[in-house]
Amino acid sequence: MKKILYFSFFCSLSLPLAAFGQTHAHASFFPPNSLRFPVDGKSINQGLSQEATVSAIEAVKLAYDDYIRQDGREFTFDLLWKSEEVNAIHFASRSRVLISIFGGIARHPLMSADGFKFVLCHELGHSFGGFPQKSKEDFASSEGQSDYYASLKCMRKVLAQEDNAKFLRAVQIPAVLKKACEQSHTSREDQLICMRSTLAGLNLGKILATLKAGIPTPDLSTPDLSVVQTTNLSYPTVQCRLDTFFQGALCTKPVHESLYYADEMKGTCNVSEGFTKGVRPACWFKPAYSGM
Ligand SMILES: [Zn+2]
Repeated sequence: MKKILYFSFFCSLSLPLAAFGQTHAHASFFPPNSLRFPVDGKSINQGLSQEATVSAIEAVKLAYDDYIRQDGREFTFDLLWKSEEVNAIHFASRSRVLISIFGGIARHPLMSADGFKFVLCHELGHSFGGFPQKSKEDFASSEGQSDYYASLKCMRKVLAQEDNAKFLRAVQIPAVLKKACEQSHTSREDQLICMRSTLAGLNLGKILATLKAGIPTPDLSTPDLSVVQTTNLSYPTVQCRLDTFFQGALCTKPVHESLYYADEMKGTCNVSEGFTKGVRPACWFKPAYSGM
């Protein structure tokens, strides 16, 4: 039997594993949480409607259509709308990928359409994010790498289909974000996508902070300055994750440059190449090639 892996946005126990067999390993995107948003609960008018959720899934699928076809594996997005669990899970075998999305995550009162697309991008990051892998045996990128991939590649593909100038005219953009995106990117469209993608990451950072009492709300101005001695393949702190979303958006490597398990540098921005912005934060990533 093939080994089955799954990686989730939030921990969950009711897993649709039947189609994949019984042998599996798992890790959740967020720490285990007891948040529940039932379909008939009071939060029904908050978060995303079912229609908006389906529309967001379709937008991500459309952006990845060619990419998935070239990949060769069978990809399935399965929306379990009635589930109250706050979760999205990535299952993978050599030939198939299943991304299951529980309705409770879309009904989180703080969830925006862009934040939800970012969640899907993180799950796709487990399939396309390259080095580092979750473990040597896994067909999946680590959590921090999937976060990085989400803004480095996926949200750029997704947002390339949209009118980002119009979207951004209607929202507040933190000065630190505007400045950083304008300094990193030269094309106006790239600058706008950088801002919008990071705002989606900020939305998720705020949601992550609701999972457990005592988690400070992350902010773009207060990066996690800790330095790991070895790469953290599991879940970085909420602030560190927001920093990763932000840096992925600032990296100027071309969106079409793919990432690989065997190459930590391809498609990414690295200090050893002279990049000071857009690199994976030291709060979870320890480069093998320091260039020193
Ligand atoms: Zn994950």
